[in-house]
Amino acid sequence: MKKRVLAYGRLNDTQLAQLAEHFEVQTFSDLASADDPDFRAALPGAHGLIGASLTVTPELLDAAPELETIATISVGYDNYPVDELTRRGILLCNTPDVLTETTADTGFLLVMAAARRAVELAEWVKRGDWQAGVGPEHFGSDVHGKTLGMIGFGRIGAAIARRGALGFGMRVLYSNASSKPALEAELGAEHRELDALLAESDFVCVTVPLTVETEHLIGEREFALMKPSAIFVNIARGKVVHEAALIEALEMGRIRAAGLDVFEQEPLSPESPLPHMTNVVALPHIGSATHETRTAMAQRAVDNLILALNGERPISLVNESAWRAS
Ligand code: NAP
Repeated sequence: MKKRVLAYGRLNDTQLAQLAEHFEVQTFSDLASADDPDFRAALPGAHGLIGASLTVTPELLDAAPELETIATISVGYDNYPVDELTRRGILLCNTPDVLTETTADTGFLLVMAAARRAVELAEWVKRGDWQAGVGPEHFGSDVHGKTLGMIGFGRIGAAIARRGALGFGMRVLYSNASSKPALEAELGAEHRELDALLAESDFVCVTVPLTVETEHLIGEREFALMKPSAIFVNIARGKVVHEAALIEALEMGRIRAAGLDVFEQEPLSPESPLPHMTNVVALPHIGSATHETRTAMAQRAVDNLILALNGERPISLVNESAWRAS
């Protein structure tokens, strides 16, 4: 009898057909929450889940006693209870690497757009306010030759730093859980403790995963340490930043501007002051959102799920110890 898979992420027809060759597949397009009654009804017989952005709780896992593998269409996995999955012997597979360069493009887009006030001034042109030449009140900040401080220096952090160092002649500082001698050699990057990095950087860019250690890593104290001319970019997860402190730092002019792809609550509430601030570039979590990359991420998740449910090691596995125990 074929194993059963619940597909709640965006998969194309070819990818769905690949899954259907191996499994009985039930699709849930635009699943808004795990409370969807049809989804709940299907959980008891599910061996695999494939999708993105669903918050998986131990209570949901209780409803899915046959579950063997979750293939998330994302590299981040802060919406999964990893220890609980491991305890239950459920594999969690993610999609690193295939989205690194696209997400780094988005990160650098935020650096550039916030520094050169691209969104604010494009809106100004759209409104018909461009009646004479621009003056100092419209000037931005240089990017080339400045100091780029990376908080988190993994795949995406390194790819953003590469753009800065090699494309824009930026000096790169980094703060990270482990030291990165290969990147120091490649990019001339220098390690700094977090406080020193905040004080020295012209651009502060966050690329750490959201974990218990990194939640609210950047708050009032950290914004106070930054230069008043600093431009802050978050391409990681909203909850790494204390958003109220960010809003206050921007309002009080403690930092110059921010480029944000992620927020504490998503979708961002229209009540939030952030998208209304002229010195904020706010994007709707589009780090990896290109046709090519989303297709590649979905394919990686499909490949992971087919391998794992057929007893083979998936390409990208979050909880290695669940595999070893299986
Ligand atoms: P990664 O390669 O695992 O890099 C994360 C880096 O953060 C690693 O170098 C890690 O250190 C470091 N780190 C972890 N915990 C830390 C801590 N407490 N203090 C300091 N450094 C810490 O992951 P990635 O592929 O670059 O992705 C990073 C994150 O970006 C994801 O987890 C996801 O949340 C986010 N993301 C967002 C989007 C988007 O659409 N905006 C898209 C993709 C990813 P070590 O090297 O020592 O392990």
